[in-house]
Amino acid sequence: KSFEDFKFNRQILNAIADAKYKEPTAIQQKAITPILAGQDVMGIAQTGTGKTAAYVLPIIMKLKYAQGSDPRALILSPTRELAMQIEENIQLFAKYTDLRTVVLYGGLGPKQQIEALEKGVDILVATPGRFLDLYLAEHINTKQIKLLVMDEADKMMDMGFIGKIHRILEVVPRKRQNLLFSATMSELVHKIAGDFLAFPTIVEV
Ligand code: AMP
Repeated sequence: KSFEDFKFNRQILNAIADAKYKEPTAIQQKAITPILAGQDVMGIAQTGTGKTAAYVLPIIMKLKYAQGSDPRALILSPTRELAMQIEENIQLFAKYTDLRTVVLYGGLGPKQQIEALEKGVDILVATPGRFLDLYLAEHINTKQIKLLVMDEADKMMDMGFIGKIHRILEVVPRKRQNLLFSATMSELVHKIAGDFLAFPTIVEV
């Protein structure tokens, strides 16, 4: 399949062309169609396989344009570095849209992040701790979240984020699409996948 075959809109196809991506990688070939179809997806893929674009492209396609001021997609990352990479990927592919992305992580004061949230956000990329801090301080309204992504779920578990993840699952709407990506399939990843995903399509590369 080519990127055209996924029926992405012109804004996305032009951004893909600018990025000089010629064809979808294996994980993109397998994951994009079920994500666009609204299914919960568990993707087993290492970094370097193109897993980020595999969920970022369909999310941009689904959200299309800026709407309201509250996030409609939440992408959870175990680390600040990965959160920043995910945000860069979103900017790359959303450049011909007006979608707004905000990235939240710890290790620095929250002032700029709070100001960014106040301007309105469609896609929120966050580490679990900072997300919960700003949620509990009432800087984030979760009511519009329709898409929840957990990236590098194995690393999330290794870093002891399971309690925070469960807390986050309690504060997002029940009816939503869930995507989980992990490099490996450990017992803990299996457990969190069971808590997180409903009848998932499993794709592996
Ligand atoms: P990731 O696994 O998401 O960290 O992506 C690894 C690298 O592959 C990144 O530098 C991406 O920009 C690049 N990449 C992702 N998808 C494609 C594609 N379809 N064609 C060429 N490069 C890609």
